Amino acid sequence: MSLRRQQVCPKCSGGKLLHVGTMRGHSENGTIRELAVASARRKPRPIDRGPMLSRQGMFDIDGSMPPVEIGQFETLICAACGYAEWFARGLKDDPRVNLAIRDPKLKPERCGECGGTDLCQAHDAFVDWPTVDAFAFVCRLCGFAEWHARRVQPWVPPADGFRCGGCGGRDGSRIDTLTQRGSAKIEWALPVATRAFGPQPGAGHFTCDVCRSCGLMTWYARETEGLGRDHGVTVLEGGVLPSQDGPYR
Ligand SMILES: [Zn+2]
Ligand SMILES: [Zn+2]
Ligand SMILES: [Zn+2]
Repeated sequence: MSLRRQQVCPKCSGGKLLHVGTMRGHSENGTIRELAVASARRKPRPIDRGPMLSRQGMFDIDGSMPPVEIGQFETLICAACGYAEWFARGLKDDPRVNLAIRDPKLKPERCGECGGTDLCQAHDAFVDWPTVDAFAFVCRLCGFAEWHARRVQPWVPPADGFRCGGCGGRDGSRIDTLTQRGSAKIEWALPVATRAFGPQPGAGHFTCDVCRSCGLMTWYARETEGLGRDHGVTVLEGGVLPSQDGPYR
């Protein structure tokens, strides 16, 4: 069963789904922004100031320019149990952004959604996550994103009744609320959905189970009651997904 193809939850067989069209999170200063699939810091660029000043000609724009970002994420969420899957779209190749596989030992052989074998690895797109060092393998064919953790902080408690959907392992950690870290050590919950206006634009949070054997992460959205069009969320009840655009569909 597949959330996207059959629109049935593989965990609880629920048929009511929430589709979050564009995932957003917090920037380092707390403002809400789109989550990119992959990003790269811009490199310092030499500036030609003539021969007399050539030694001072390197101008470091790191930090003053936003990073290069490609792609967006959307999610499908089971309204009953919260099980969530992430999909990337708009993942066009950019020579400045590295999508190469950097963790070959963790890479699945094929996409868990479509069976395709053309996977890339998306990194560094988010601000810091204090509880887990994570990244996603992304299928270039269908956009399905499989999240993996390299490391979970030791204070994260074990997950009761855990069973890994990848390796079958029974040893897991449960991050009750996945947070992002901004500047000045402030932490925000990664929201399930956001709206453009209002004092509290972010709604909901994510619980993540992490397999201690293979690192596979399973996402569950929490506090999703009442999410609707205001938050860019479409409720699907045995219906069909909104038009699927993008090159990887
Ligand atoms: Zn479910
Ligand atoms: Zn796929
Ligand atoms: Zn596992």
